[in-house]
Amino acid sequence: MKILEVKDLCKTYIVNKRQNNVLKNVNFSIDEGEMVAVMGPSGSGKSTLLYTVSGMDAITSGEAHFCGKNIAKMGQKELADLRLDDMGFIFQQMYMLKNLTVQDNIILPAVQSGKQESRKEILERCQELMRKLGIIEIADNDINEVSGGQLQRACICRSMINNPKMIFADEPTGALNRASSGEVMEELAKLNAEGTTIMMVTHDVKVAARCTRVMYIVDGNIKGEYNLGRCESNSQIRERERALNNWLMEMGW
Ligand code: ADP
Ligand code: MG
Repeated sequence: MKILEVKDLCKTYIVNKRQNNVLKNVNFSIDEGEMVAVMGPSGSGKSTLLYTVSGMDAITSGEAHFCGKNIAKMGQKELADLRLDDMGFIFQQMYMLKNLTVQDNIILPAVQSGKQESRKEILERCQELMRKLGIIEIADNDINEVSGGQLQRACICRSMINNPKMIFADEPTGALNRASSGEVMEELAKLNAEGTTIMMVTHDVKVAARCTRVMYIVDGNIKGEYNLGRCESNSQIRERERALNNWLMEMGW
């Protein structure tokens, strides 16, 4: 089943009366259960693609169907509810609130959601997620008292708190060192194995090699796609990285 289907998507920004056609008739779809990496040169439109297909930013023309519904035609309120209930977001600038604890940051989207749920149920789910991501011991820390890796794992918990169908991540490991990046990818791969669809922008071949598919974007268009298939065991990682690297070189990486 397709969870996301994008047809002739265009995105134009107008800055100082000058038109910048950032996305130019982009077509692709993502099946439920996939973990797709978006790669490409800086400025090629990767973040813009992520924001437009997830309803964070307006679509100039074309269609983006999420679970069969065209988000290009949705009103602000309907879009906000869809984002809150069915999508999770992990951004590069992490948008955690400064004077709240880690736990309160994570539960915020659940409190905001219209679902009839008690605070107790929300807290239980939050703690289960924090345990899974290995940050339960910092639940009551202030958000600026934690390391970069812990903060990014808290972001993953927050993106998962409303049990989204799909997670959108913009360079989720971009600010992390190699070890933390590996751990965060491990967690994302686990969530994906449990059924959450993931679309992420990354510059890191090691990160992309864990995905099921890579889309390569150049100048607002998908130049190529590479199917890696599911990564069944860690022993395949090296070979997957090597194959992906070769393909990226062909793409002009
Ligand atoms: P990438 O993530 O691949 O580095 P972006 O999607 O961030 O690229 O940016 C693609 C192009 O769109 C750039 O030329 C950038 O300047 C422009 N752009 C991105 N966001 C905005 C915005 N909010 N307003 C105007 N121009 C933007
Ligand atoms: Mg970007």
